[in-house]
Amino acid sequence: MMDYRQFGKTDIKISEIGIGTWELSSDKNKNISSIRFAVEHGVNFLDTAEMYGTEQLLGEAIRPYDRNNLFVASKVWPDHFHHDDVIKSCNESLKKIGTGYLDLYQLHWPNPAIPIGETLSAMEELVDSGKIRHIGISNFSVKESKEAIESMKKYSIDSNQVEYSPVTRDIERDGIYDYCMKNNISIIAYSPLSHGKIFKNSALMKDLEDIAKKYDASPAQAALSWLLSKHVFPIPKAGDIKHMEENINAVNIKLNATDTDFISSLEKKYYEDSIASRFKSK
Ligand code: NAP
Repeated sequence: MMDYRQFGKTDIKISEIGIGTWELSSDKNKNISSIRFAVEHGVNFLDTAEMYGTEQLLGEAIRPYDRNNLFVASKVWPDHFHHDDVIKSCNESLKKIGTGYLDLYQLHWPNPAIPIGETLSAMEELVDSGKIRHIGISNFSVKESKEAIESMKKYSIDSNQVEYSPVTRDIERDGIYDYCMKNNISIIAYSPLSHGKIFKNSALMKDLEDIAKKYDASPAQAALSWLLSKHVFPIPKAGDIKHMEENINAVNIKLNATDTDFISSLEKKYYEDSIASRFKSK
């Protein structure tokens, strides 16, 4: 059964696992069935973005359901961070999704060329006009998050959507994880299955399988369960309904401390060189 967790500083509870919709395949019916399967099995948190080109499909997928029971998130692309462009992008997203409001509207990536205060004043106006309910950021560093928070006049930033998986743990090293946890900013973990990378490394898969089989689970479930133990909201994308089912059921797997630590050791074991090179370039 799906579990729900408080979102940001709000009193809203959303499903611990959300649904990502980037790079959906061209098989529209399959994608819609997969999203509907998720909603019918308790997922109420659905994530899209103007940049993904999937807002329309998501809108179609959720049409049979009571909109009030869903938490629909989209994002504005950084090229559209000037005040009027934010409003325009939001209106277009609403139209494409076919909804009167977004539960969460996120700044997709920081854009240092446009004053953050200008962008966020438009976001706050969107809250005032009822077009969005909550404001989030995505890919913001601690410094950028602080700047964003300081430029808010009335409302709060409730989430930061960042890359996080057992083998992509930069947010633990650069302070974002701790900063968000301390400030009640929900972490939405994107690419929680490392954009499929984990499935291509057979040695890593074997390690995950060894843990997973103790719980009668799959490697993907072990990875998602590891993320859930970190109190974040993973948003895996699964066009395949079997994958979707597996991902949703990850909420039922509670890893013990030894297995959690073992999964925590895998990034260093398999990707030490890439961690070092990423940090050298920062
Ligand atoms: P992901 O969810 O980490 O991985 C998706 C890949 O894993 C797909 O190839 C999928 O295949 C496969 N998969 C899913 N569940 C599986 C399972 N149980 N067993 C085996 N394979 C499985 O990758 P992602 O799409 O990069 O990230 C998820 C979402 O995060 C995106 O859709 C998007 O909403 C969001 N995102 C946000 C940003 C940002 O800048 N804010 C950036 C990247 C992603 P099938 O599709 O065939 O099932």
